[in-house]
Amino acid sequence: MPQIIDGKKISQEIKDELKEKVAALKQEGKEAALAVIQVGDDPASGVYVNNKKKACAYIGIRSLSYELPEDTTEQELLDLVETLNRDDSVNGILVQLPLPEHIDEDKVIRTISPQKDVDGFHPENVGRLVIGEKGFVSCTPAGIIQLLKRSGISIEGKHCVVVGRSNIVGKPMALLMLRENATVTIAHSKTVGLKELCRQADILIVAIGKPRFITAEYIKEGAVVIDVGIHREEKIIDGKTVKKLCGDVKYDEVAEHTSAITPVPGGVGPMTIAMLMNNCVETML
Ligand code: NDP
Repeated sequence: MPQIIDGKKISQEIKDELKEKVAALKQEGKEAALAVIQVGDDPASGVYVNNKKKACAYIGIRSLSYELPEDTTEQELLDLVETLNRDDSVNGILVQLPLPEHIDEDKVIRTISPQKDVDGFHPENVGRLVIGEKGFVSCTPAGIIQLLKRSGISIEGKHCVVVGRSNIVGKPMALLMLRENATVTIAHSKTVGLKELCRQADILIVAIGKPRFITAEYIKEGAVVIDVGIHREEKIIDGKTVKKLCGDVKYDEVAEHTSAITPVPGGVGPMTIAMLMNNCVETML
């Protein structure tokens, strides 16, 4: 039986530790505030933003909410970010992505002060990760390192294959595994022989955005499998529409070939917000 890596439990542990840290910092007179900016009323973004605000309330961080209309101009958004950059009472700034098409996301990310970039997307923080300097790290990959460590899975010397090379998941993930002394291979949509490559992985991390893409044929017996994918699916059962989440891994057939695996939901998903909170607390230190 594989070890089922419990992201819900581990993320709760992290949030509880942070809550204690925040209470201690408050005793020293240190407080934190996170500014959360949402443009437009995309329902999925609304859910994420709400969850972030709830997590802030839980650990004792003040959250400032900016809900801007869909037709907000790029300049208006940049002006708000600049104002928050200058505001000493704001430690962290988070702009919920995706932004409406008329706004250049890269420009917005680059405008956030690297010292307040709790998402870890600013090129300065990405550069720090590359050269092994301290800085904010993208939350989902940082959460995966915590999942592995807190589940007693050793990384050093292991062959890790990361499938996906996005700026927010795949690339920082590969760099973090390298920092932990894994031997890392990055695969993507142009990789030749993906199945054979994945079968060489001691730790396989999948972030491709394709439901149930990774089947048992991609797995080396006893490998650790981390599924980053999240897909919302609707199924009709007994005439009722049932909403279900699934990942990039075909869990039912893959799990039995692994030594440890993350489920979807309840694996990687809850870790992202926990690590965002961790980054917010870092701004107080
Ligand atoms: P992107 O779409 O930005 O990147 C997908 C990556 O997968 C690309 O590098 C792409 O390659 C690669 N890819 C696509 N198809 C294949 C294929 N057939 N074989 C090999 N590689 C392939 O996605 P994200 O990184 O943003 O997200 C990935 C998944 O993780 C999504 O399901 C997303 O919802 C989920 N996610 C979950 C989070 C969480 O909190 N749990 C947070 C963020 C994302 P190429 O570069 O060549 O196009």
